[in-house]
Amino acid sequence: DKAGYHRDTWAEIDLEAIRHNVEEIKNHLKDKEVFAVVKADAYGHGEVEVAQAALEAGATTLAVSILDEAIRLREHFSNVPILVMGWTNPEYADIAAQNNITLTAFQTDWVHQANEHLTDQDLSIHLKVDTGMGRIGIRSVEEAYDVIRACDRTNIFITGVFTHFATADEPDFKYYHQQLGAFKQWLKQVKPHLPDSITVHIGNSAASMRFPNDMYDGVRFGISMYGLYPSKHVKEEQTILLKPAFALYSRLIHVKKIQKGDAISYGATYRASEDEWIGTIPIGYGDGWIRKLQSINVLINGQKHPIVGRICMDQCMIKLDQSYDVGTRVTLIGCEQNATVSMDDVADHLETINYEIPCMLGKRIPRYYI
Ligand code: PLP
Repeated sequence: DKAGYHRDTWAEIDLEAIRHNVEEIKNHLKDKEVFAVVKADAYGHGEVEVAQAALEAGATTLAVSILDEAIRLREHFSNVPILVMGWTNPEYADIAAQNNITLTAFQTDWVHQANEHLTDQDLSIHLKVDTGMGRIGIRSVEEAYDVIRACDRTNIFITGVFTHFATADEPDFKYYHQQLGAFKQWLKQVKPHLPDSITVHIGNSAASMRFPNDMYDGVRFGISMYGLYPSKHVKEEQTILLKPAFALYSRLIHVKKIQKGDAISYGATYRASEDEWIGTIPIGYGDGWIRKLQSINVLINGQKHPIVGRICMDQCMIKLDQSYDVGTRVTLIGCEQNATVSMDDVADHLETINYEIPCMLGKRIPRYYI
């Protein structure tokens, strides 16, 4: 489906890979629930399509970061539990309640204010506990008792409890175990004050792959649902075999031979050291293919070719080993014959994590689903 798009740069999202990855983690975790983390437009993969695939493969809840993401998903999935994991302004508590969206809470004042905004619908909340991430969440048992008490005689019901790990992907397990220990202690004291039916979920991808037996009722499966490992260490452990879902392609739109000494792109920083073939592709920093990606390899005909000269807003140039026809496909992220440029390769080039790459590739790049 190319509806509305007329360009020769595109991403392909392999929904079979998404389903495979969800099935793999389900098998790995036996009978625990999988929450499909589809925030930030499903890490740039497309929220509705990914959510649909994840649910087909057995995920039971959709987890997002902000209320707007939840509301958009609710339009497509009328009965699926949706959890907003970030802070929501309590002014919007009623909008969440009306849409049967579960919010995250960790402040007593928040509960009071949310209660003032509720009309006729019950609001479901999960309590967030900060066991060492230091971002959002209740930090003590006393704070938890206050929040729980604030819910008394309101239409706000605590249906879950969760925490988030800061280091579950790292080689040293010490801080993970410290957080896990803190959570166990906290839960032991708070659980008697909560309904028996609450859902407890603590793990992200890294924790769910490495410590399946610690995972209580469910996991929030994000990066690895997309077929990417949370870190090199987790990748090396190969606890489950993931299939990457995201590939990025373009096409040569111009091919020419330049002479030794000829320059390429802004600043004329690249000079041909001999007569050489240069191709142009229609992707640039306006698509999130940022200037720091200069010199990374792309694949043509199963061979690696470097980007040369500065990346422009909408185009960049490639040094070719020979002439190719206009229209020849170029792989920027993905596999071609026996060669691969992975999301991790792009992240390494930018000295960042794989999570950031599909998020930063703009909406001007169509996502096609295969
Ligand atoms: N849970 C929370 C609260 C998150 O913020 C995130 C994303 O960072 C996840 C779960 C998913 O983590 P991952 O993508 O590492 O699986």
